[in-house]
Amino acid sequence: MQYCEKRAWLGLLGRAMLFIAGFVLIFGAAHAEAAFAERAGSMSEIKAVRVSNSADKTRIVLDGTKETSYKVSVLSNPQRIVVDIQNAWLSPDVKKSTTIDSRFAKAVRIAQHDTSTVRVVVESSVGKNNYKVFPLKGGSTAYRIVLDFGNLGGSSGGAAIDFNPKPKEESAGSTGGSSGTATTGTAAEKDNGTDGSTDVVVKGEPVFTPGLKGKIIALDAGHGGSDVGAIGPTGVTEKGVTLRVALELQKKLIAEGASVIMTRTTDTEVSPKKAKASDIEELQARCDAGNDKNADIFVSLHMDSFTNSSPSGTTGYYYVNGSKAGRRLAKELSEALVAELGTGNRGTKSCNFYVVKHTTMPAALIEMAFISNDKEERLMNSEAGVKKAAEGLLKGIRSFFG
Ligand SMILES: [Zn+2]
Repeated sequence: MQYCEKRAWLGLLGRAMLFIAGFVLIFGAAHAEAAFAERAGSMSEIKAVRVSNSADKTRIVLDGTKETSYKVSVLSNPQRIVVDIQNAWLSPDVKKSTTIDSRFAKAVRIAQHDTSTVRVVVESSVGKNNYKVFPLKGGSTAYRIVLDFGNLGGSSGGAAIDFNPKPKEESAGSTGGSSGTATTGTAAEKDNGTDGSTDVVVKGEPVFTPGLKGKIIALDAGHGGSDVGAIGPTGVTEKGVTLRVALELQKKLIAEGASVIMTRTTDTEVSPKKAKASDIEELQARCDAGNDKNADIFVSLHMDSFTNSSPSGTTGYYYVNGSKAGRRLAKELSEALVAELGTGNRGTKSCNFYVVKHTTMPAALIEMAFISNDKEERLMNSEAGVKKAAEGLLKGIRSFFG
C-alpha cells in the first residue's frame, strides 16, 4: 500500500516536472521567435533579384526594404564576386539561382548565409575595373544594391573589358535556317534563322556621338561558301550580291574614318567549322565578329526571295525586343537604300532573326531587293546597282549617327 502510494506520488512529481520542462521549452521557443521577429523588423528584407542585359553591361539589382551595409569580396577558381549584405534576411519568394549567360556574367545565386547576412554570389570572370557595386536609395523600392558588370567607363575613361568570351550555348530547341516549309513569306523568314528559343534578350539603348569617324561598323554579308542563299531567275546568287555590296560599303566607310568589321570578305562560311557548322554555329560566328570587337552597329545584308517573281522592294528588319536604336537603324538603312536604288519601300518590320537578336549592339538586317524578281536581280548584279546599294547604305548609316 505504502509502496504504491509512493509510486503514485513519484508519478505525479514526474508529470509535473515534465509539464514544467515542456513549459520552459515552449516558452523559450516562443521567446526566441519573438526576439527574431523583433530583429527581423530592424533588418532589410531582400525581396527581389533582378537581372538585365544591355550592349555594355549586365546589371543585377537587389531590392531591399531598408538601407544596409554590405561587403564585396572576390573568390577564385572559378572567379566569383561575392556581396554579403549585412543585417538582412532573404524573402522566401526570391529565386535562389538565375542563369545569366551574358558576355559579362554566367549566373547569380542568393542565400541566407547566416542569421543576419544575405550572400549574393555572381559567377563572372571580368577584371576588377569591369564590375562595380553601389547602393541606390528611393525610386521603386526603398533601397537597392546594384551590381554592374561590363564596360563601365567612368573616371578611367572606359576600361577595356578583359574577359574571355565563352561561346554561347543555344538550346537544342532553337530553330536554325533549315526549319520551316516556307511556302509563304519571303526569304527573310526562311534563311535568316528565326530564333525559336523562348528567352528574351534585352538590348540597351546606346548613346552615340555624331559622325562616322571612329565608329566601329560590323558588316555581315549574308550567306557564303556552301550556303548560297537565294538564287535569281538567271542564276545570280544572294551570297555573291551581299558580298559585293559589303566590300563596296566597307571601302566607303573606311574613307569616312570608320573602322569596319567584316564577317567575311570572300566566298566562305564565317564559322571556323566552315560547311560543317550548324546553322546556329554559323549565325553565332557572325554575331561574335561584331560582339567581340564591341561594334557600334551591326548590319546584315541579304537579298529577298519569293516563289514567284512578282514581289519586289526593300525591307529593313530589327529585333522585336531590341533597342529603339536598332529599329531606327533598320528604318534609316532601308529608306536610304530605297532612295538610291529606286526600289519599292516595303517598310521596316520587327523579327526574331538570330543575328539581330544575338548581337549586343543596335542591329538591322536589310533585304536590299528581291533576287527572285527579274528586274531587281539584274539591278543588283550590275556594277551600277552594287555601287548604288553601297551608297544608299552609307547614307543610311551616316544619318543614323547624325
Ligand atoms: Zn538571306
